[in-house]
Amino acid sequence: SPLLSLMGISKTFQNGTTALDGLDLDVQAGEFLSILGPSGCGKSTILRLISGLEEQSSGEIVRTGEDDVGFVFQEPTLLPWATVADNVYWPLKVKGVSKRDATERVEEALEMVGLSNFAAHMPSELSGGMKMRVSIARALVTKPKLLLMDEPFAALDEITRNKLNDDLLDLKSKHDWTILFVTHSVYESVFLSSRIVVMAARPGRIVHDMSLEAPFPRS
Ligand code: ADP
Ligand code: ADP
Repeated sequence: SPLLSLMGISKTFQNGTTALDGLDLDVQAGEFLSILGPSGCGKSTILRLISGLEEQSSGEIVRTGEDDVGFVFQEPTLLPWATVADNVYWPLKVKGVSKRDATERVEEALEMVGLSNFAAHMPSELSGGMKMRVSIARALVTKPKLLLMDEPFAALDEITRNKLNDDLLDLKSKHDWTILFVTHSVYESVFLSSRIVVMAARPGRIVHDMSLEAPFPRS
């Protein structure tokens, strides 16, 4: 059975905007699924509904398992007054894990994104690419099986974005993760995904759903 099922999901906001209208989507465990579409077609809304940040107007979302969901936003949204390590610790702190018990997991998450040496730094000391790595580490620290990424690299320069794309693929190959990756970049979706869902605007719906045999290598 799918890891995640969206069944007949509609979302109309208070101001009357309908972002999604009867959307159906099954996500299988282990997929790297890109949701590709123009700005405003409802991509972020899908992730926000899955994560519980918003509630659908109608339809049903079914998730198997009680695992955490990791969410990486386009803006890194780090706490500016906290060190890199404390930023990554934050989701564990919210869950009531003591700092001492969290130490190893924070170190592990920072190592995954290549920032072990920056644990004691402040966010203001980091480049844009490094801040994004910290927010990925923060999303990974609770060991979620499902990772939601909302145009995570859109604000970065191309070289940094390519590097993070490579690193993300490498991490994905080593871990038992399912990734939902929102992007408006055709290139990024083709490079990263095992499956691409294409959305059209007005109202947000899926117009193509394609599986890729293997990710395309970048030459
Ligand atoms: P995307 O991520 O594809 O750019 P969004 O999911 O952010 O699209 O938005 C889909 C549509 O819903 C857009 O028309 C957007 O303006 C609208 N929308 C998103 N959030 C809200 C909100 N909180 N209130 C009203 N309209 C919203
Ligand atoms: P951006 O491209 O946004 O500037 P990068 O992640 O490429 O961000 O990092 C910019 C600079 O920060 C690098 O050129 C490097 O000098 C330094 N840097 C980034 N990550 C590390 C790291 N893991 N170890 C040491 N230095 C790093």
